[in-house]
Amino acid sequence: MSPWQEQRPSGANALISARDLRKSYGRTEALRGASVDLHQGEILAVTGTSGSGKSSLLHCLAGIVRPDEGAVTYADERLDRLPEKRLSELRRSDFGVVFQFGQLIPELSALDNVALPLLLAGKRRREANEKAGEWLERFGVRGQSDVRPGEMSGGQGQRVALARALVTEPKAVFADEPTGALDSLSGEQVMTALAHTARESGTAVLLITHDAQVAAYADREVALRDGVVHLDPAGTVGQEAVRHEG
Ligand code: ADP
Ligand code: MG
Repeated sequence: MSPWQEQRPSGANALISARDLRKSYGRTEALRGASVDLHQGEILAVTGTSGSGKSSLLHCLAGIVRPDEGAVTYADERLDRLPEKRLSELRRSDFGVVFQFGQLIPELSALDNVALPLLLAGKRRREANEKAGEWLERFGVRGQSDVRPGEMSGGQGQRVALARALVTEPKAVFADEPTGALDSLSGEQVMTALAHTARESGTAVLLITHDAQVAAYADREVALRDGVVHLDPAGTVGQEAVRHEG
């Protein structure tokens, strides 16, 4: 048993399980004992006001940031304890991320942006381009293949970002306010595309949003308040309820 497999916390049937996460930035306590399970194939919305710790939680679950305390378990591995090299491999092969502003590479065309994760995974250029084209097609932006991010609309850019996040067929996608910078029609198109594709491919999605219309695309919703996860977004049940989940 490797050192990061011991002490496996509860949430055994979850794809990713976070327990009692604490994370501080200087004096700011972004997470104060946050626990949540992401199950295979589900779309889980995490809502909460600005500054409640949503992005911090996503970063810990996606292995982008290590929590100060607590455990993040993914497929029998303790992400919070994995060596950096193994962690970055795992992020590349098993996870996809989408942020509020797609964070596409501005110098690359849409096709090259989407092909990049495949090239990094060792695929040949021709195969990578072919697959990237298919994923642009799925998100209705194949027509933008040769266009650079700066010349696309926000909605098109986010659909390219989704294609890039999903092209490696990850087990989980982490989306941090993916529609936050879009008008409501573009937001709907992006969410419809994300939800449809995730359901089709059985990809789990952790969806951060403070928009109820966006959260409505999820199977389940939890709320963060002051760095603590609450199972009922409306706020009528205490945080301890998380321990009885699944
Ligand atoms: P949300 O995504 O819900 O807006 P965040 O997780 O981004 O919340 O932030 C939670 C708290 O932690 C906020 O008070 C924020 O200012 C602080 N914070 C987050 N990231 C950093 C950072 N890198 N450096 C300093 N403070 C941070
Ligand atoms: Mg945030």
